Amino acid sequence: MDRRVTKQVRVGNLSLGGSAKIAVQTMWSHPLPDKNDAKGIEALLDRLRTYATMGCDIIRFAYHTEADREVFSIICKESPMPIVADIHFDYRLAIDAFTCGAHKIRINPGNIGSKQKVEDVVRCAQDNDGAIRIGLNGGSLPIHLRSQDHVRAMVDTALTYIDWFESWDFDRIVLSLKDSDLETTYRSYTSIAESSAYPIHLGVTEAGGIVSSSVRSTWVLGRLLNDGIGDTIRISITDDIEYEIEAAKELLRAVGIESKGIRVVSCPRCGRSTFDSQKFLKQVQSRLSTFDVPLTVAIMGCQVNGPGEASHADIAITGIGQKVFLYEHGVLKRQVSADEAESALFETLEAYINAQ
Ligand code: SF4
Repeated sequence: MDRRVTKQVRVGNLSLGGSAKIAVQTMWSHPLPDKNDAKGIEALLDRLRTYATMGCDIIRFAYHTEADREVFSIICKESPMPIVADIHFDYRLAIDAFTCGAHKIRINPGNIGSKQKVEDVVRCAQDNDGAIRIGLNGGSLPIHLRSQDHVRAMVDTALTYIDWFESWDFDRIVLSLKDSDLETTYRSYTSIAESSAYPIHLGVTEAGGIVSSSVRSTWVLGRLLNDGIGDTIRISITDDIEYEIEAAKELLRAVGIESKGIRVVSCPRCGRSTFDSQKFLKQVQSRLSTFDVPLTVAIMGCQVNGPGEASHADIAITGIGQKVFLYEHGVLKRQVSADEAESALFETLEAYINAQ
């Protein structure tokens, strides 16, 4: 597939668009810890380090009060990945976020007040080496445009804001155009991709839980990626952040854009299942996602059919009762007790990788 040619926009130490890889994003889903809660701050930074090892490239935080400024400044400074501040309504918070060290903000210029306030934010981004995502949503279009076709309204609005930004000599712009209607989202992205050369942030709004979001996001974002559109991606899921990262990486792999990372296959289980593959998968999935080698690991429910069904995998694991078996390309390599299953899997995996 030919990827759309875009300008390249720097966000901290990362580049979006141009020849840069498609960046995986997520969003922090809890309030920030109190500034006096050193343990809470360190725990948050630990989570960010884990997300980075899982393949997350950027993380966004809602920045909705200046009371968070001290903690947010620490996060911006210590984070292993660029930080984006999500701003609604108050342009002073956008300015404050940049002075805290945010590498990018996400705003809808239409909901922070006058054009002068938008200019103040853009000037602050210039002064603080920041980028801005113009994030439009069909549900928050200006009232006089809401009854119009949302695709046309969002694209025209985005182009107007781009004109404003460029008139202030600012071009570190990323765009997103989302709507609760999936086809409107798809057409808005394809239309803006034809009209502008700025990098595009892909996402689906109001996506839902794991199943709903994965299906809805794959339906829209998979087609856009296949069209060569998209420079950074977030799969919004109402669940643990790890799922967002895993889903985004899996989608990039499925479309053929990402070749790194372990692809996990697991059987659906049936009446023959003697190994709790579902529980084991949950136990090891996050750790497996920290490997960036392109391998397949199979987690199968029984020893009868599992090894055969998983013979295409580099490493497979299954079991019966208290015995667990590890295979390389369908050939039995190790037998361990159920208690040792996790450590044996990672030892086998690491030995396999080192032998390549
Ligand atoms: S591997 Fe075994 S448990 Fe899993 S679906 Fe196949 S036969 Fe059933």
